[in-house]
Amino acid sequence: MAGSNHGILNRYVLVLNQAYEPVMVTSAKRAVILMLLGKAEGVVNYEEIIHSPSFEMPLPSVVRLSRYIRVRDKEIVLTRKNVLKRDNHRCQYCGRTSVPLTLDHVVPKQRGGRDTWNNLVTACHPCNVRKGNRTPSEASMPLLRPPHKPSRITYFQKFVRKHQAAWRPYLFMEPSA
Ligand SMILES: [Zn+2]
Repeated sequence: MAGSNHGILNRYVLVLNQAYEPVMVTSAKRAVILMLLGKAEGVVNYEEIIHSPSFEMPLPSVVRLSRYIRVRDKEIVLTRKNVLKRDNHRCQYCGRTSVPLTLDHVVPKQRGGRDTWNNLVTACHPCNVRKGNRTPSEASMPLLRPPHKPSRITYFQKFVRKHQAAWRPYLFMEPSA
């Protein structure tokens, strides 16, 4: 499964549990391994075909685990990457995207601000520097929206692009883009 498949095997795949609830997003490569091990079955495929010396198979887009996994147990981990994703890679002060981004503590760390979903937002470097050791109201820099812990469904929805239209019914989104 190397060579010409390289690009498409990095494609996102939505993993559902037995009850068709979204569990996680993984790579096509990992989804194919789960399928070859009999741990998952294909539900929806992309248009592309995976070629290997011994077999060909459609590139999976949505797969379903054969084992039941309770979804509630899994929480979205608080990481830099996930905060950026929650904020759509947009500075939460000036609204700019496509600029180098960092994380800003809404209540500065030196003043007791913690590393939590409610206190971390995406910020561009100029806004981060301008705000400094102040709160948004002290700096007169209101947030675009109050930060909160993302729900799992919202989190998965952010992976949906043009190629992932088939995911929409599983994520309670409108049927077409
Ligand atoms: Zn900014």
